[in-house]
Amino acid sequence: MPEETFDVVVVGGGHNGSTIAAYLAKSGLSVAVCEARPECGGGQENTEPRPGFRIDPHATYLYGGAAPGFDQLELWKYGMRMVYYPSMSGVVTLDGVAANMGSRWRPDIGEESTRRYFPDGNGGGGGLVDALTEPAMRELLRALFWTPPHPRQHEIDEADLPWWQVFRKHVPELWTERLVDMSYCDFLEEFVPWEPARVLSAMGAWYCGAHPNWDGMMLPSLGGGMLFGYSGGSPRGGMHTYAHAIIRCAIAHGARILTNSPVEEIIVRNGRAIGVRLAADASFPEKTIWARKAVISGADVKQTFLHLVGRQHMDAGFAQRVADVSLKGGSLFVMSVICRELPKYHGRDDAFPEDVYPSCVVGPADSMDFFYAQTRDAYSHTKVPASLTPEHLTMMICSHDQYDPTRTPDGYHVLSPIYLECPPPQYDVEGPEGYNRHKQEIVDAALALIERMAPNMHSDNIVDVFVNTPYDSEFRNAGMSGGNWYGARQSADQWFGTRPMPELARYRTPIDGLYMCSQSMHPGGLCLMAVPYNLMHILIEDGVVEPASWWYPSEWYVPENGRRKAEVA
Ligand SMILES: Cc1cc2nc3c(=O)[nH]c(=O)nc-3n(C[C@H](O)[C@H](O)[C@H](O)COP(=O)(O)OP(=O)(O)OC[C@H]3O[C@@H](n4cnc5c(N)ncnc54)[C@H](O)[C@@H]3O)c2cc1C
Repeated sequence: MPEETFDVVVVGGGHNGSTIAAYLAKSGLSVAVCEARPECGGGQENTEPRPGFRIDPHATYLYGGAAPGFDQLELWKYGMRMVYYPSMSGVVTLDGVAANMGSRWRPDIGEESTRRYFPDGNGGGGGLVDALTEPAMRELLRALFWTPPHPRQHEIDEADLPWWQVFRKHVPELWTERLVDMSYCDFLEEFVPWEPARVLSAMGAWYCGAHPNWDGMMLPSLGGGMLFGYSGGSPRGGMHTYAHAIIRCAIAHGARILTNSPVEEIIVRNGRAIGVRLAADASFPEKTIWARKAVISGADVKQTFLHLVGRQHMDAGFAQRVADVSLKGGSLFVMSVICRELPKYHGRDDAFPEDVYPSCVVGPADSMDFFYAQTRDAYSHTKVPASLTPEHLTMMICSHDQYDPTRTPDGYHVLSPIYLECPPPQYDVEGPEGYNRHKQEIVDAALALIERMAPNMHSDNIVDVFVNTPYDSEFRNAGMSGGNWYGARQSADQWFGTRPMPELARYRTPIDGLYMCSQSMHPGGLCLMAVPYNLMHILIEDGVVEPASWWYPSEWYVPENGRRKAEVA
């Protein structure tokens, strides 16, 4: 049967697998995507636990506004629509602060809050974000996220990495060599004077970029927050509609999407990946699918090598290094709360008027000590809950329906998601199920704390609560290792040329014909279309795909010695 053989077989139809399928199909290759679940999209999922109420069990914001993929894949043709929010974020403390920070569409809102709470000076982003114009910010984000890691033989000074080149070009007055080694927390402590703004920025980075405590990662941490601010909203109807646009694009260019088709093995012969074997009960009738040119894994790095390829095809040292890749730092406990009224922080309507109500409220944000306490829990503790006092429970409380009426029926709101950072289930002393035994305790503590900040969040206002722990996230989605939003820790030893480890950084693997395309790879988590865009450079270099006229490479891309350059001839 002709369907048994494709140019490229993609394992997993999550955000990254679907996007590379769209890129390759649009470039003229025959592509099959094998997805274990009944639908593609992976972490880009929306569910309706009650009819008409759309909640986000995983991804909630679009961070990919600067992605070349919107332009190259022309997603607007396939139904992609954004809702832009007048206010993206706000911050609340236990002692009565409720500051609306606005958005890049409404900077006046944040300026007004800064004047009210910090009349003596700049309490916001330390002047850095304000110094970047819109095109400069896009350039900086593309240098950070939409650039493939340099080839290993290409040695450059840290200060000349793409993002530092852009930074120096646009804000020379803020540049000092010292920034290169800084953590984002060092930067906040030095340059941002207002404590709630520091907590907001640190928490924002933790949920969107590299962890703010990592030395040498100041700009990748700040970049996460910039992605959030630059995109400034979410897809209409939720993140799954964005996944649909990508999948429709792939299908329109001829890709075959095989759902209910879990891959059990990546077939390797003589050191080369030549196809996949599906589970016996997969929906696709042919259980072996051959790949003429490449197999691309959209599954996480551990599953790919330790289970699908198997240790017999790699050296023991490599397998051990894969097993050692750290998952710490991005595991999320997720709640969704249906309520009749949005939270009125500190009982006031005027704190956040409904027409500019912040989509994401971070609280309690009284002190950086709260942030450090929670960081210790997530990185060092091996038991959940480590502590349920307010000092350990700063949350991101998100809502979209004040701007997107497709999310809830009239008269209701849904706070979805409410995120809490916590340790990965894998390292829990009670075993990964430890989380689920403590689910209700965590929910009760979180709701009591929200009520303390917003007294109208009492039981009469709350209609229903849905929860998925990081362990539940793994259970519902085999790609979500650790229930972690970025798959593998985003620290200097797992970022750019070292992500997730140096020998995999350019998406090639020790198995010929096998490439990686999941959030385990640079630049990590979020639905940015960045991993597939970066991988395209490598596939062109290797002759797997010919670039079409619409393709353009990253400005900072460095070709591999002796290979063709990833650009249109
Ligand atoms: C709680 C949470 C909140 C998040 N919030 C945001 C956000 O607001 N914005 C944002 O952009 N991102 C967010 N993310 C991150 C985002 O969801 C991920 O980075 C993204 O989904 C990763 O895409 P992926 O394709 O690498 O993996 P996944 O989305 O996990 O997809 C992997 C796919 O592969 C399939 N699969 C796995 N193994 C196999 C197999 N053996 N055979 C066949 N199929 C297989 C899975 O079923 C899945 O569909 C969040 C993540 C979490 C957990």
